[in-house]
Amino acid sequence: MIDLRSDTVTQPTEAMRKAMAEARVGDDVFGDDPTVRELEETLADMAGKQAGLFLPSGTQSNLAGLLAHCARGDEYIVGQLAHTYRWEGGGAAVLGSIQPQPLEMDSQGRMSLDAIRQAIKPDDAHFARTRLLALENTWWGKVLPQDYVAEATGLARAHGLATHLDGARVFNAIVKMDATLAEVSEPFDSVSICLSKGLGAPVGSVLVGSRDLINAAHRWRKMAGGGMRQAGIIAAGGLHAVKHHVERLADDHANAERLAKGLVELGYEVESPDTNMVFVEIGEHADALQVFARERGVMLLGGSRLRLVTHLDVSEEDVDTVLSVFRDFREDML
Ligand SMILES: *Cc1c(COP(=O)(O)O)cnc(C)c1O
Repeated sequence: MIDLRSDTVTQPTEAMRKAMAEARVGDDVFGDDPTVRELEETLADMAGKQAGLFLPSGTQSNLAGLLAHCARGDEYIVGQLAHTYRWEGGGAAVLGSIQPQPLEMDSQGRMSLDAIRQAIKPDDAHFARTRLLALENTWWGKVLPQDYVAEATGLARAHGLATHLDGARVFNAIVKMDATLAEVSEPFDSVSICLSKGLGAPVGSVLVGSRDLINAAHRWRKMAGGGMRQAGIIAAGGLHAVKHHVERLADDHANAERLAKGLVELGYEVESPDTNMVFVEIGEHADALQVFARERGVMLLGGSRLRLVTHLDVSEEDVDTVLSVFRDFREDML
């Protein structure tokens, strides 16, 4: 099967499994796990932050970050289609009593600076206290332009707001931009990084930020049930990924481009990819295509605007196989 549903579907490589099997471990709730500590320190160093915290998922990492920044009755400004607002069960509001202030985003994932400015509430008993601006990079595979990030976070800081980056796929962004993690993280007080997306580890995310912020997030992680014991077993997969799977993200981007180009040649309407996601307009034939592809060994998500994601387990050859399936489907349909 060639699985294009997400970059979360990857199998750990042999080398990664070996690193996990051989990991030195301890009880991380006592702070005794050397592999977890190494992973946290490695990512904090790479991001130019004081400290890191290993969490079981990106959702819990964002949640712990939001709770560390905001108290009950505070508010965070976030994109209408951002993951923290839209796809995390409303956790900030449900579990943190943090009011989201969602704003429209453009096709690159940007909220307008004017809209952000207008959403920041004055200090007045009528309003929630606006505390935080949360951005996402990459968003739907799009790299957030650094000049926008500088302006938006500058605006936030000028109004006394903290800043958080949902960087689930931030490594795709830095490889695409040829930037360092520290450069992209610099404008933010906290960054949440997923190890289980394009990096290809089976489990885990790391939140990075100042020592104080990470101490606060640590308490929320415990409360959310994210205190794990011999977690070095899974942290070792993440550490292996950070050491060996970052530069190869360029291959995923090249494969996405190859896929997009091939689909355009076949007559499909395609949005040109920034990183590892290709969006194709399929229209009314979406369900038929999903079945047709599945019968030929290609797994796709549903929807009329199809998202195809390249990753560690998709080769250039696989891309050509996928293209032949799309070609056959088009010929069948016409
Ligand atoms: C996947 C994802 C998350 C959440 O990660 P999980 O590990 O699935 O909880 C957060 N933000 C973005 C942008 C994501 O793509």
